[in-house]
Amino acid sequence: MLLRHTTDKITERSALTINPAKTCQPVGAMYAALGVHGCLPHSHGSQGCCSYHRTALTRHFKEPVMAATSSFTEGSSVFGGQANLLQAVSTIFTIYQPDIIAVHTTCLSETIGDDVNQILQKTRDDKLVPPGKHVVHCNTPSYVGSHVTGYSNMVAGFINYFPQKTGKKINQINIISGWVEPSDMREIRNLATAMDVKIVLLPDTSDVLDTPMTGKHEIFPKGGTTIPEMVSMGNSRSTIALGPFCSEDAAIKLENKCKVKFTTLELPIGLKATDRFITALSRAANVSVPDSITDDRGRLIDMITDMHKYLYGKRVALFGDPDTLTPLVEFLITLDMKPVYVVSGTPGKRFEAAMDSILKPAVPEAKYMNGQRADMFLLHQWIKQESVDLLIGNTYGKYIARDENIPFVRLGFPIMDRVGHSYFPTLGYKGAMHLLTNMLGAIMDKMDREAVEEKFELVM
Ligand code: SF4
Repeated sequence: MLLRHTTDKITERSALTINPAKTCQPVGAMYAALGVHGCLPHSHGSQGCCSYHRTALTRHFKEPVMAATSSFTEGSSVFGGQANLLQAVSTIFTIYQPDIIAVHTTCLSETIGDDVNQILQKTRDDKLVPPGKHVVHCNTPSYVGSHVTGYSNMVAGFINYFPQKTGKKINQINIISGWVEPSDMREIRNLATAMDVKIVLLPDTSDVLDTPMTGKHEIFPKGGTTIPEMVSMGNSRSTIALGPFCSEDAAIKLENKCKVKFTTLELPIGLKATDRFITALSRAANVSVPDSITDDRGRLIDMITDMHKYLYGKRVALFGDPDTLTPLVEFLITLDMKPVYVVSGTPGKRFEAAMDSILKPAVPEAKYMNGQRADMFLLHQWIKQESVDLLIGNTYGKYIARDENIPFVRLGFPIMDRVGHSYFPTLGYKGAMHLLTNMLGAIMDKMDREAVEEKFELVM
C-alpha cells in the first residue's frame, strides 16, 4: 500500500496541493512549439526547468525532445536574463539553424520581470536573427494555470506572429488542435483528407514525436505546421478550435487579427463529440460526409451495442485535462456508465459549467472539481469513501489503481510506463473504438482474474 496514509476523511485545505493533476506551463508551451516545422523551443530560465520539461516530454513520447535554455545563473537571476537570451539567439541560429526559435518564460524569468518582447525586438534590431528566420514568444508563468495554459499561450503566440490577411480567400479550413497525441493529430488530418477538405492544422506533432526509426537523427523532423501554412491561416475560410482550454484563445486572436470566423468545439472524443466535429467540418467546407466515415461510425455503434452489458452502470473516476475530460465524460454517459468522480488541476470556470450541464443531469451523485485543490489526493479520498469500477487518467493513477484494486486505463499526459498512446488515436470514431477496447479490456481482465472457477468463462 504505497498510499496507505490516504484516509477517507476529507479535511478542508486552503493552501496545500497533494499530487497535483497537472504539470507546469512551459511543458505545454514546449509541446506546442514542437508541432511547428523547424522550430526549436527555448526555455528562458534556468537549466533545471528546461531539463525537467524535456524529460517530461521525452518520457511520454519515447523520443528525444530538443530544446534550448537561457541557462540562468545567480547573476541573471538577480539582474535579468537579457544578455543570456541575446547570446542564446545568436548561438542557436549559428549552430542549430532552426527556422524559428519559440521562446517561453519560466517562473524565474517571470518573477524577475524580464520583458521578453523587448529583448526579442533587440535581437531583430541587432541583426541576430538571420533573414527568413524568426523568433516568437509567449509568457508562461507556472505559478498560475497548468501545462494546458502554456500550450494555449504558445499556440496563441504563433498566431500573434505569423498569419497574414491579404484579402484573397483560400479554400481551406484552419483547425487549431488542443493538446492531443501525434496519432490524434494524424487522425484529424486523415478525417479531413477522407472528406476532401484542405486544412491547416496548428500545431501538428505527427511526424515529429512519432517518427519512424531510420537510423539517422534529425533535429527537425519532417512533420509540423510550416511557416507558409501559418501565414496562410489569415486567408482561410474559417477556423475550428478543438478543445476550448487549449485552442480558443488562438482562434480569438486570429479572428481579431485577420477576421477569420471561428467555431469552438470539444475535442472529438467519443460518439457525440466526433459527430459534432464531422458536421462542423462538412458545413465549414461545404462537403458531404463520405461513406468511409459513416461506416466507421456504424462500427463504433455496433461495438457499443455488443458490449453494453459490461459497461452499463459502471462507476468511473477520471482525472486529467479539461479538454479531454469534458467529451470523455459525455462519452461515458453515452455508454450508460457513471462518471462519479472527475478532477482536473487546470483552473477555469468553463470546466465546472461543462460538468454542470453534461454530468449533473445524468449522474446527480457525481463529484467534480478543478483548480489547485482538485488533486489526486482528493480523488483518492473520494474513491476510499465509495469505490469505482474503472479509473482513467495518466500514469500517476497507477498508485491509486494498485492500492484500491481498480482497473486502470491510461489516458492523458504523462504516460511514462506504457507505449501505444502516441501511435493509436483516441479522437474520432476509430479513436473511440480504441478507447472502448482499452476500457473493456481493463474491466474484463479484472472479471477474469477474480472469477471463481465455475464462473470463469471462455466466451464473454
Ligand atoms: S520552476 Fe516553474 S517553470 Fe521551472 S520547472 Fe518549476 S514550475 Fe516549471
